Amino acid sequence: MDLKYYIKDVPDFPEPGILFRDITPLLAEPQAWSITLDRLTQLVAFLKPDYIVGIESRGFIFAAPLALDLGAGFVPVRKSGKLPRATFQQQYSLEYRTDTLEIHQDCFKVKPGGRVLVVDDVIATGGTAKCAGDLVGLAGGTLVGFCFLIELTFLAGRDLLPPELPCLSLLTY
Ligand code: AMP
Repeated sequence: MDLKYYIKDVPDFPEPGILFRDITPLLAEPQAWSITLDRLTQLVAFLKPDYIVGIESRGFIFAAPLALDLGAGFVPVRKSGKLPRATFQQQYSLEYRTDTLEIHQDCFKVKPGGRVLVVDDVIATGGTAKCAGDLVGLAGGTLVGFCFLIELTFLAGRDLLPPELPCLSLLTY
């Protein structure tokens, strides 16, 4: 099944010049969604993660079922001010501003130093994923790789990530 069929291109969203890759048609088609999860699980199983870190908000959609499939814990990385207990924070750059992501300080308490895979829907410039990877380190996890449904290769986002770690993507544009 060609999963790209279920991903719709939306020109000039959320701002002029951005070609937004809309995953909602894929999520609404149970067979395509199920195949997507199977393929993602197969792609990353060899990393044997103890935790899947999902990046707010579309990363959650993929990270949570992936964690269940792999017998791993799910840990959210959220935008500033959303997590209720003590957090580590890290800033990252967007085109015209900076933003902050957070992770709970004790999120890896069940298995200290456990193996952590960072998951998001799309890697574009790589700044968001890099920031999440840095937070994993601050919280004491062992970062073992990154996984994305979609990689926008022309933006070379993977070049921002640690070169020794696998950066796995199911679909490339
Ligand atoms: P970046 O930090 O540039 O790699 O951006 C990644 C984040 O922005 C991800 O959380 C994506 O959900 C979102 N994103 C960036 N570009 C796109 C795009 N063209 N289509 C859909 N989502 C995008």
